Formats: sequence, structure tokens, C-alpha cells
Amino acid sequence: MDKDLRYGEDYQFIPATSVGSGIGIEVLADLYQYTIQIVNIVLYSNPSTNEFVLIDAGMPKSADEIISVVENRFGFNARPKAIILTHGHFDHVGGIIELVKHWDIPVYAHPLEMPYLTGKQNYPAPDPTVDSGLVAKMSPIFPTEAIQLGNYIQAIPADGTIPFMPDFRWIHTPGHAPGHISLFRESDRALLAGDAFVTVKQESLYKVLTQQKEISGPPRYLTTDWQAARASIEKLEALKPAVAITGHGLPMKGMELTENLKKLVNNFEEIALPNEGKYLN
Ligand SMILES: [Zn+2]
Ligand SMILES: [Zn+2]
Repeated sequence: MDKDLRYGEDYQFIPATSVGSGIGIEVLADLYQYTIQIVNIVLYSNPSTNEFVLIDAGMPKSADEIISVVENRFGFNARPKAIILTHGHFDHVGGIIELVKHWDIPVYAHPLEMPYLTGKQNYPAPDPTVDSGLVAKMSPIFPTEAIQLGNYIQAIPADGTIPFMPDFRWIHTPGHAPGHISLFRESDRALLAGDAFVTVKQESLYKVLTQQKEISGPPRYLTTDWQAARASIEKLEALKPAVAITGHGLPMKGMELTENLKKLVNNFEEIALPNEGKYLN
């Protein structure tokens, strides 16, 4: 069964990094953000059971680093109960095959992401014309071929609950990817937004490198449905999150988050929408 697991043919290391790479931030006592090159992974730990889960699986070739991060935080040979995917893009599943083999744990994703995670369908090609930034320009080398997670991949429960994350609920936030989900906890309004919106202008290599904080829509080069992306941001803003961890960039909280999300909703066209691009309708 293990031998059937595989990445796509286009799987490769992506030479892009940021000043945040290799740095972990304890955003809340039970939520730890760690940056792999230019993307964030999150560890959620349940204080009452000592169980923990990994949210998203980093850049290609990052599995060893992710295992070290987990063992540094939870002890030698510690393993999460599951991996929860906000979506299946290459920078969120980059280490996942090695991780599920090493830990032998289930992966949960939205049913609409399943074709990309079970070898059935490739993501549409990235669009380098959406921005003049260098990350956008290098996006054609990003892996988009479906990966094969075999029996390890399971649909996230339809009732909105998330395995091993008892207080969180998932919210369907499509647009950047069809089955993109965000994770939200009502009690302290903690939001894991994935790439529904991000806090760095991800198209720009300079801004990614310096991790300059700037509220942004979903990374443009991989976003295929802008109408849905807008509705998803409005949905998340309406939740009035108090703290947000996003797939790219630094965490944001309090008034800074409230004001920036409002600004993003009110100025979606100027801030998020590309001026040109093949996925604009
Ligand atoms: Zn993405
Ligand atoms: Zn991403």
C-alpha cells in the first residue's frame, strides 16, 4: 500500500525562502506556527489529552525538517494524530508522502480537494501574468500534478467537526482552491485561514523574503475562482476573528486584524484582484 503513495512527476524543491524560514511562533498556547521557506505549517495541541495534529505539510522536500519541528516540540518519536489540509497545493502538501509513511496517520481534506490528492486530477496551471512579482513569475515551475495519498486520505467530517480538534470547526472557503477550508474556534475567535487570505504579498519575492506584513487576498498565481475567493473572505471577515494564522506571512491579531480584514473586504478589487490573468471572469 505504501508503495502506491507518490508525488506528481513535476514534484521538485522550490528555491525560494524568507527571513521567517525555520522560525516558530507560539501564537496561542495551543497553536504554534512554523515557517518552512515561504509557507506556514501549524501545530495544534490539545492540552487535556496531549494529542496534537499538524495543519498543512510544508514545501517539497521539507519532511525531515517537519519531523524535527514536531520532535523538538513534543519529544523524540512524538507523532501527530492526523494531518489536516487547508487545501492540496504543492506548498501545503510538500512533505506529506514521507510524513504519512513515517507516522502512519490519516490525512483529512475537503471532498472537493480529493481528486488532487488521489491521483485523479491535476491543478490548473499557475498564472504568471497576475503580478509582476518574482514569485508570480516563477510560478510555472510550481508542482501542480495530482499526488497519490491512497488510503491515508479521508474526507473531513461533513458535520463541520475536525478530528482531534474538538473546539474547532471547518468552514468551506473556496476560490483559491475548490475544496479550500479554514478552521475556526468560536470561544477565542482563533482562525486558521490557509490561503483564503494571507498577511504577505505572496507574489513578490522581496516582500516574501522580508515577510513584510500586508493584508492580501489569496496568492494570485494559483487562484482560479475570484468570485468565490471574494465570498470566502467576506465569510471570514464576518466571523470577526481575534487572531489569524495564514498560510503565508506573519500571524495577525486584535485591531490590526479587524481593520485589515475590513480593508480587504472593502477594497477587494484593488488589493486582491489581479489587473489581468487567465482566471479572471
Ligand atoms: Zn494555495
Ligand atoms: Zn500556499
